[in-house]
Amino acid sequence: MNEHTNTHYKYTGVMHIHSVHSDGSGDVWQISKAAKDTGLDWVLISDHDNFDIEEGIFNGVTVLKGEELSPEVSDHYLALDIDKYLDFQDSPQKNVDLVHEIGGFGFAVHPDESENRKNKYPPIKWTDKNVIPDGIEIWNWFSQWGDNFDTTNVFTTVYAHLFRHRLVKKPYRQTLEWWDELNKNSDKIIPAIAGTDAHALKVRYVLPLVIFPYKSMFKTLLNEICLREPLAEDFETRKRQILNAVKTGKNIIFNRRIGQNPPEFFISDGNTTAFSGENIYLNEKTYLCLNCYKKSDIKVYKDGKEYISLKSQESRIKITETGKYRFEAEINGFGYAYSNPVTVR
Ligand SMILES: [Zn+2]
Ligand SMILES: [Zn+2]
Repeated sequence: MNEHTNTHYKYTGVMHIHSVHSDGSGDVWQISKAAKDTGLDWVLISDHDNFDIEEGIFNGVTVLKGEELSPEVSDHYLALDIDKYLDFQDSPQKNVDLVHEIGGFGFAVHPDESENRKNKYPPIKWTDKNVIPDGIEIWNWFSQWGDNFDTTNVFTTVYAHLFRHRLVKKPYRQTLEWWDELNKNSDKIIPAIAGTDAHALKVRYVLPLVIFPYKSMFKTLLNEICLREPLAEDFETRKRQILNAVKTGKNIIFNRRIGQNPPEFFISDGNTTAFSGENIYLNEKTYLCLNCYKKSDIKVYKDGKEYISLKSQESRIKITETGKYRFEAEINGFGYAYSNPVTVR
């Protein structure tokens, strides 16, 4: 018997959120309310160098917490599954090790911020790609917006606010290549996530304003996790279920501006089905299935190399080789969805 039946449950969440405990403007009630109003099942709040936010079930939404270890100029590291506050260290490797020491795992966040910024905020990058994090945030909404926020004159400044979603197009190729490289060299899945980096900043121009409120950010870059059993009633079990899914790459990243849900993606051997983050054995019937809500520009990658490229809504692709398979989907040049890999053995 194969362990995989076709039964699965999907839950949509947002990662990388800041609250009043660092430079965000919302508390756990406001953030969970915004999540409820936008139809999310779970959120993960991670303040800069602070671990004070509550976790639990608020407004019917599962709220988890982490900490964004935030050295001043580089190497921000999203620490998850930790049970206490951590002081950031003076090197990225030490941060990775520190999180492991207490049984947690972490993601390098906004690793490739642009050096060509036309504003006063310098980029915060991952400085040493030889330091291997447990996972990578391959797309960060606020970070990419900041990369393209041009304050040279009043028109570009206003444009960046009025047409903010045009500034966030797709993940950077160099980040995806780094992620592929790490996966090529690892037997297990090096997981990817998307982050909103939502702050809901309160500013005062002429009138007090909230820049990019939580509700608006929760309609941008999301993570849909796929579980084999439904989320439990009690919080502690739910927490384990969600963290484990994130840790093992059982999620698809998608841009809700483009589509309300990500595509259905799996590899089947004709009998059982493997979703992102899972394994399946190759046989003569093995195929990859991808259903988008509308016609998309799709690329399937195998072990980091382009395997097939097509424009379609529903695709069924025969698989004849072992490897790690993932897809990217774009619509009109905008990134729509990015899966973690399925491993065919
Ligand atoms: Zn950061
Ligand atoms: Zn952040």
